[in-house]
Amino acid sequence: MIPNKTLIELLLKNKKIDQATADKLLKESENLNRPVEEIIYERNLIPQDELVKIKSDYYKIPVKTFSKEDVIPNEVLNIIPEEVARTHQIVAFKKEGDTLYVGMLSPDDQQAQDILKFIAKQRKLNIAIYLVTKSDLENIWKNYRSFATRLKEIQDSVEIFKRQSKPSHQPYQQRVVRIDEASGIIAEEAPIIKIVSTILEESVESNASDIHIEPMRNKLRVRFRLDGELKEMLSLPLELQPAIVARIKILSDLKIDETRIPQDGRFRTILDNKEIDFRVATFPTALGEKVAIRVLNPYVGLRTLDGLGIREYHKTIIEEAIAKPFGMILATGPTGSGKTTTLYAILQGFNKESINVVSLEDPVEYFIEGLNQSQVKPEIGYDFASGLRQIVRQDPDVIMVGEIRDNETAALAVHAALTGHIVLSTLHTNNAVGVIPRLIDMKIEPYLLPASLILMMAQRLAGRLCDNCKQKEEATGSLREVIDKSVASLPKDLREKYRKDKYEIYLPQGCKECNFKGTKGRLPFFEVLKMTPSLEEVILKDPSDTNLKAEAEKQGMITLRQDGIIKALEGLVSIDEVLKETIEME
Ligand SMILES: [Zn+2]
Repeated sequence: MIPNKTLIELLLKNKKIDQATADKLLKESENLNRPVEEIIYERNLIPQDELVKIKSDYYKIPVKTFSKEDVIPNEVLNIIPEEVARTHQIVAFKKEGDTLYVGMLSPDDQQAQDILKFIAKQRKLNIAIYLVTKSDLENIWKNYRSFATRLKEIQDSVEIFKRQSKPSHQPYQQRVVRIDEASGIIAEEAPIIKIVSTILEESVESNASDIHIEPMRNKLRVRFRLDGELKEMLSLPLELQPAIVARIKILSDLKIDETRIPQDGRFRTILDNKEIDFRVATFPTALGEKVAIRVLNPYVGLRTLDGLGIREYHKTIIEEAIAKPFGMILATGPTGSGKTTTLYAILQGFNKESINVVSLEDPVEYFIEGLNQSQVKPEIGYDFASGLRQIVRQDPDVIMVGEIRDNETAALAVHAALTGHIVLSTLHTNNAVGVIPRLIDMKIEPYLLPASLILMMAQRLAGRLCDNCKQKEEATGSLREVIDKSVASLPKDLREKYRKDKYEIYLPQGCKECNFKGTKGRLPFFEVLKMTPSLEEVILKDPSDTNLKAEAEKQGMITLRQDGIIKALEGLVSIDEVLKETIEME
């Protein structure tokens, strides 16, 4: 990898980061003892295609990019074995005559060079080196074991399991208990271990957020949640259900013989050198126990504000708020709108040595180096409220509370903010102004709000349009009117930029690259309202919905709908989805 200092200089020179980020990166790299480049990948700080260009200038090595249509023949791929390819971050992608084309992430990796020299000599080949992005590398590595191969492995394991379990009439679960006591692995456990680990691996590879393993009448169904939608990945013989559930329970330290009540736990595994956490919840159904597993992949979920697609107009307000010495920053939106991800992005901005950050979460979704994160356990009386009371004794500067859902937590959060802490939390309301009536509902005295509340955010998610197949179209008729109305009420500079006679929007189509969905991943859109003297006046006089909305408009707040429409006009999301998500607000 490029030496840390050189890389930082190049990034500054190319205006990819500012001096503050540069200093922070160097410091973190020192503290964590990891290369700056690795930290950049982990946090999505700079788009990889931009980073690879800078590397190309430095190494004087050309860049090779890939699209999903590029097929790499297995015989070429396998010239470098998977283990070696993953360890040294390389991949063989083309063979022409006597030349083997190899993609590398770090061309200065001495061991990788030695391996390539060895392969060249042994196979009598010349090697041509190209720089590739980390994400291209990871995508190509998936070809070593496609889902089809994994499925085949699962089927083989099922066969082995069936053969082995035939002679016995004892229920499987009891045998697992015995195995566990001996803490050894006997042969018949192996196929189940294999099936479970393959399912887990596949969930991480495909960026699934959840795994559901559900007994049906005649099969055991395995579904993944991909980009918010559940998809059946696999169905297994029903007879495997007790063994698979038992295996997952062993991993997550749950009671194996307790099948009548729901249990929850978690475990961590290392896949592809990444630490991934899985949160497990079992649930008894009439057909047997069902298992839901949340995949907490910090490499997918952790984003910076830029990585989330927050625009300058919102970012400036958020950064102003973060710079304040105390007060509450509240993110709102329905379940699954990504508000926790946004809080984590804000939280990362505080993660400095001089600041003590403590969080109370349910669950802890991503572990962040340097933060003191704590998981609440309501069943033993450790909930958000009692946790908050303890936390203030830990001398925190910044407190994150997963959610404010009762009067007591609301009161404690306000109190913490008033006594000199920055408090980050989420709340269930429709929009940003809704925070104020909601807190008043929760018995917070209105006169406490101006001093304790600094920022209110709301957000929604829309599918990110697939660049490969989206189609441009002119918005006409009532759709044009709706767009124009929103754009016309934007603040002057944005209005000048986006207001047109003709509005172009993009429609999702579907192609091979996006699995015929028309979208790839999701993109949030936001609204951000800050506390001002005139908002304070409204709160103290008459914080009715109409008055608050009028005040937000006066403040020039870019609304959810406006931010969504801007993103639609830029071809990032579909206008239909933006309008549908914001319909109740118009
Ligand atoms: Zn597509």
